[in-house]
Amino acid sequence: MPVMHPTTIDEATALLAHHPGAMVLAGGTDAMVEINDGHRRPNASVVAVNRIAALRSWRHDPAAKTLTVGAGVTYTELMHEPIASLAPALAEASRTVGSPQIRNAGTLGGNLGTSSPAGDGLPVLAALDAKLTLASAAGGRTMAVTDFIVGVKRTAIEPGELITEITLPVVEGWQGYAKVGVRNAMVIAVASVALVVDRTHERVAVALGSVGPTILRCPDAEELLASSIDWATLTAPADALERFAASVSAASRPITDHRSTAEYRRHAVGVLAKRLARRAGASL
Ligand SMILES: Cc1cc2nc3c(=O)[nH]c(=O)nc-3n(C[C@H](O)[C@H](O)[C@H](O)COP(=O)(O)OP(=O)(O)OC[C@H]3O[C@@H](n4cnc5c(N)ncnc54)[C@H](O)[C@@H]3O)c2cc1C
Repeated sequence: MPVMHPTTIDEATALLAHHPGAMVLAGGTDAMVEINDGHRRPNASVVAVNRIAALRSWRHDPAAKTLTVGAGVTYTELMHEPIASLAPALAEASRTVGSPQIRNAGTLGGNLGTSSPAGDGLPVLAALDAKLTLASAAGGRTMAVTDFIVGVKRTAIEPGELITEITLPVVEGWQGYAKVGVRNAMVIAVASVALVVDRTHERVAVALGSVGPTILRCPDAEELLASSIDWATLTAPADALERFAASVSAASRPITDHRSTAEYRRHAVGVLAKRLARRAGASL
């Protein structure tokens, strides 16, 4: 099993073009588990992307009010300044991922590459309408993260493509992430919610993890909360928060599995969404 170590994106995409079926390896925190469990066999070769500096960099464009994060940026980098202030919900989600070792190795690109419904970075990216860029030897393309994730651990990536970066808006307002699991640390989400309250555009965005085959947005709940909020204080009446929670629960499509029941998951996303909305108001 040859392992190749390109140092540029062009080199990596050329290798992927010349080695059909090659596996991209970033931090290895998902890929190695799958290999060890026998769910995956890198039958040809491995393209390790951790030496590509461009994938490990990020940039803030104050004029465009965007943050662009390389696919190889780790959770440890995302949860600390200066990125933490630009994308607070992403930082909050990153702090909940695994252990320090997993956060040092695991990358945002790897979270997208796997696209588990429980991936902690994904609800935040969906709520922020983040876009990702894919590169291949034939060129590049950009797409919404919500279009990229097409099913349980299924994505729109084509053979030979590499996720290079993710771009998200730097939002003026409040944003947060909350998850519940079977214990307090080192836990895969049983249900998770990302909330973004965008003061500039007076918009609300809610995305749910672990309660459907993909990350789910909740347009009815978003509309309900946005029309109930006092935008000067970011607060909403208690009865509106109850209706918001019920609407979020109604948007979920959970299943019962070894981690939890559908009923608990449906209830949990409503509770988490209401708590996040309260925190948005209390943050002023
Ligand atoms: C003990 C443990 C605890 C964990 N806890 C959590 C948790 O709390 N929350 C959570 O969300 N996840 C958790 N994970 C899963 C994992 O850490 C994350 O999904 C992480 O983001 C994967 O990133 P990686 O860089 O390690 O990806 P890798 O394992 O290297 O790759 C994952 C997949 O993405 C593909 N890929 C990687 N980079 C690219 C790229 N640039 N372009 C195209 N494809 C790419 C790979 O081919 C592979 O299919 C945990 C894993 C372990 C082992």
